[in-house]
Amino acid sequence: MIDSFKHQGMRKQLVALLTEKGIRNIHILQAIGKVPRHFFMDSQFDKFAYQDMAFKIDAGQTISQPYTVARQTELLELERGMKVLEIGTGSGYQTCILLELGARVYTIERQRILYEKAKVQLTQMKYHPKFFFGDGYAGLPAFAPFDRILVTCGAPEIPDALVKQLKPGGIMVIPVGEGDVQIMKVIRKNNEGEINISDEGNYRFVPMLKNKSGT
Ligand code: SAH
Repeated sequence: MIDSFKHQGMRKQLVALLTEKGIRNIHILQAIGKVPRHFFMDSQFDKFAYQDMAFKIDAGQTISQPYTVARQTELLELERGMKVLEIGTGSGYQTCILLELGARVYTIERQRILYEKAKVQLTQMKYHPKFFFGDGYAGLPAFAPFDRILVTCGAPEIPDALVKQLKPGGIMVIPVGEGDVQIMKVIRKNNEGEINISDEGNYRFVPMLKNKSGT
């Protein structure tokens, strides 16, 4: 795939738009300015890649809206070297943004085709998270605890298993709600292990599916 001047120009405009929409973290804006989002979509749709919209990928799933990717990442308050669990690899675009910010990323996807495709795509682009195929509802107990947990699908409730896998001082960002609209929840675990939850606005995500084997 080619990252032309035209793509780079459209990406600059997207960064300007996200700045206008309130994204302030310069490192996140730089990461969005760097990762070619059109690499994650069919080449016939590349003119849509730099619009601030979600877009259909395989298996009835979507690549998240750039604003949502930026905002969720901002809410994570990431620092370089942190160990991050991502639920819902999807296209792998958000994974690349986390890696650009210096995170060590463990990412889980339950749709086989997306898991396989993201592995090929990211490896070609020289991004190397740890990929897992499975149900993110259970997290990755063997690799816990995590400094940060990011859920990129709409969860019916906050999964206990994920809260358990958060380090003291850790933050989890998760959209919660069963209908069309989810509330972005930020869950902080303090050093005593106490949990504090705040709401950060409404978003739309594909649902997080529980106990279902991927295809
Ligand atoms: N960050 C991704 C978002 C993809 S949409 C991107 O921007 O491309 C959310 C993804 O979560 C979908 O790929 C869906 O298959 C996946 N998903 C849904 N339920 C899941 C679960 N229980 N475990 C892991 N992944 C899940």
